[in-house]
Amino acid sequence: MDHHGRREYTDRIRLGGAALPIVSPARLYVCGITPYDVTHLGHASTFVWADTAAAVLRLAGAETVTCRNVTDVDDVLTRAAVQRGRHYDEFALEQEYFFGRDMAALRVRRPEHEPRARHHVGRVVQLASALLSTGHAYHRDGAVYFRGADVPTKTGLTLERATELATEFGDRLDGLDRDDPFDVPVWRPSADDQPGWPSPWGRGRPGWHAECAAIALGTLGPAVDILAGGADLTFPHHAYQAAMVEAATGVGPFARAEFPVGTVTIHGVKMAKSTGNLVLVSDLLGHHPAASVRLLLLNRPWQQIWDFRASDIAAQTNQLDRLYAAAGTARSSQAATAAVTAALVNDLDVPAALAIGEDSGGDAARLVLRTLSLD
Ligand code: ZN
Repeated sequence: MDHHGRREYTDRIRLGGAALPIVSPARLYVCGITPYDVTHLGHASTFVWADTAAAVLRLAGAETVTCRNVTDVDDVLTRAAVQRGRHYDEFALEQEYFFGRDMAALRVRRPEHEPRARHHVGRVVQLASALLSTGHAYHRDGAVYFRGADVPTKTGLTLERATELATEFGDRLDGLDRDDPFDVPVWRPSADDQPGWPSPWGRGRPGWHAECAAIALGTLGPAVDILAGGADLTFPHHAYQAAMVEAATGVGPFARAEFPVGTVTIHGVKMAKSTGNLVLVSDLLGHHPAASVRLLLLNRPWQQIWDFRASDIAAQTNQLDRLYAAAGTARSSQAATAAVTAALVNDLDVPAALAIGEDSGGDAARLVLRTLSLD
């Protein structure tokens, strides 16, 4: 506070270089997991950072509402369940349980909404109908396609780069009869052995981008303050989610700010289940304090792509020990706590906030530890 008693730093936060004035409730949509396998550190990084963004918004005086979906209708999940001889929804629930256990250990606060895609299929049908009636989609062979020809350029991508990214995510499926290669399914017909629901276009299931669009609409309304997820979701997933919601509602932009969390690599290669190049959260927590693992994720710029090394965790434990010692001192400084807040609302500058906490000790150190859930 300044000498007039006014809260100086807490009317806005900066995120990704843009000022984001606080409005309550601040609505965060966090693109969640497909529950078909164990949680790796790349997922954990996204969810710990989204949790921290919400904590910093609350520090700045906002109320927050977070929605983190569970993609429990997905071909990857169906295939994994079939391989194990399991029914997809029972298998998904089991994986969700393990995910929840890892998140709790890392002290990620439970979101207010944790919707499962299969409970929102009716909303996807409504979204498809809305897009059809506004001319933003068309019906063909049991599928409803969203007209996405202008989505790559709106996202600032060249067509070449957009094609690469869409192919990586399986959006450019050969053999589909679409008006444009960047049209994506809002609704897809299901074969007899695939999960399916009735619709005006026959038995089928939602497309992934449409699932998140319909879930965001259903839980948070036509716009969100922060759209969070791994950086690799920016295109196509988040770009199409936003384009579908905007086309259906006429409200825009869908997201006031995007929060694409930097990718975690091992030996320079992206962590991924498909390649087996990954570190499991449960393995790390068996050998290291959870707060040290959480700090390893947070002790850097959130956009940064970084390489995981197990040997880096010890330094986090040492830094935490110094912070705990500093927090145990009786010092109290309004300037220091204001500086901690200023660092965190400035694009979630955790390293700066930690340094102030460690230097100043007392209530400044306690504020850092509490806000980052490291206490
Ligand atoms: Zn999503």
